[in-house]
Amino acid sequence: MIRQNIRKYLNSIPNGVELVAVSKFHPQEAILVAYDEGQRIFGESRANEFVDKAKSLPNDIKWHFIGHLQSNKVRLILPHVSLIHSIDSERLLTLVDSEAKRINRVVDILLQVHVAQEETKYGFDPDKLIALIKNEKTTSLNNIQIRGIMGMASNTDETNRIEQDFIAIKKTFDTLKALPNMGDNFNIISMGMSDDYLLAIKHGSNMIRIGSSIFGNRY
Ligand SMILES: *Cc1c(COP(=O)(O)O)cnc(C)c1O
Repeated sequence: MIRQNIRKYLNSIPNGVELVAVSKFHPQEAILVAYDEGQRIFGESRANEFVDKAKSLPNDIKWHFIGHLQSNKVRLILPHVSLIHSIDSERLLTLVDSEAKRINRVVDILLQVHVAQEETKYGFDPDKLIALIKNEKTTSLNNIQIRGIMGMASNTDETNRIEQDFIAIKKTFDTLKALPNMGDNFNIISMGMSDDYLLAIKHGSNMIRIGSSIFGNRY
């Protein structure tokens, strides 16, 4: 099934939208099936699992870290990560910068914004994020490159609410993009998962994160 599922996505998503195949909790063999169909971007959310997979699977895979990142795991994932979607505090941003400097690399990151109605989800409040980025201190960090934002819609069946959330994420992106200290490289809008990616694309997503409808349920 993985083979057919990944093909369906690769053949149907519009040009300009990147697919992150979210392989968390799924075995390495499952990743290799998708890899053999041409998929190269995989998303993981647990640091130890991320590193185990990155060390043993083909090294042309681009590994995205999408889960909440604990400070004590930054050093572990940094050598292997191609994009961190889940920078959700100023402290984490600064820490990733200094750890990246230590290993002499520049790391691409997304700022996670919180718009959903659930209180448990991580991320910056949109207004606080805009205030933070207006302060040039964050955009002058040398070892991170802020590539865009990531967000999640509320976990609900109400299409209207989901659309409002995606509109709010896109609006936050547009506001940040218009700031003088954000460059051309700030161009990624990561939103949309298995159940809501079509709505996300409709509202401007250019990076979707799909797990269960490629790999099946996680147990
Ligand atoms: C697990 C996860 C996904 C994938 O969710 P599915 O509903 O399985 O497609 C996407 N984004 C994040 C941040 C996740 O943790």
